[in-house]
Amino acid sequence: MIIIKTPDDIAKMRQAGELVARVLTMLQEEVKPGINTGRLNTIAEDECRKRGAIPVFKNYPHPKGKRPFPGVICASVNEEVVHGIPGSRVLKEGDIISIDFGVILNGYAGDSAITVPVGEVNPQVSKLIEVTEQALMEGIKQAQVGNRLGMVSNSVQKYAEQNGFSVVRQFVGHGIGRAMHEDPPVPNYGRPDRGPFLKEGMTLAIEPMINMGTFEVDTKPDEWTVVTRDGGFSAHFEHSIAISERGPEILTLR
Ligand code: MG
Ligand code: MG
Repeated sequence: MIIIKTPDDIAKMRQAGELVARVLTMLQEEVKPGINTGRLNTIAEDECRKRGAIPVFKNYPHPKGKRPFPGVICASVNEEVVHGIPGSRVLKEGDIISIDFGVILNGYAGDSAITVPVGEVNPQVSKLIEVTEQALMEGIKQAQVGNRLGMVSNSVQKYAEQNGFSVVRQFVGHGIGRAMHEDPPVPNYGRPDRGPFLKEGMTLAIEPMINMGTFEVDTKPDEWTVVTRDGGFSAHFEHSIAISERGPEILTLR
């Protein structure tokens, strides 16, 4: 069931979104060769504590009952798509890191992700990052009252594929509100004439995961980290948005 939010709900989601955006900006500035992903995790955790926000990813239950997620952020490097576990891995020149972060602040969730190059990356990798972010923006443009959700999904897919990349199918975006994950699922692919009609007060987390090679993915033995099957690089951008008659509002704008 899709939960429609009141203006008051959305005002609170704006606060959660602002915090998420601010922390991601801080983390983005820290990304450089020599830093480890655990350090980024600590910075995010400290900010949550200062602001009284709950870092929702920490101890997030595993879908198959394995150990809960141990990080405050997901830190996915290079061929890692999503759900990378932060720790001792040191970033080096030419790597890319996708950082996904979510909180609950005053009872409302915010969720956003960015992919950041570590120093200089090769031009095709740089293009992957730009195309993924723009694919997200193309999807958001379609998040209009009266459109079908499939128009969002289809626009993301079209933009990514026109640029020679592939769209991960196995993981999708989601509704967001008091809970981090609500209905409806928000795929990054599919036909435009599918899915629910969008209405004022719907709030969505749109999050394309775009791969350089095959769209197929596997999960590593740590039971969390999702990697591309062919080892090609993957990028991930996400915004939480609210749909209104005035157009889509990005709640996690940096
Ligand atoms: Mg996220
Ligand atoms: Mg999400």
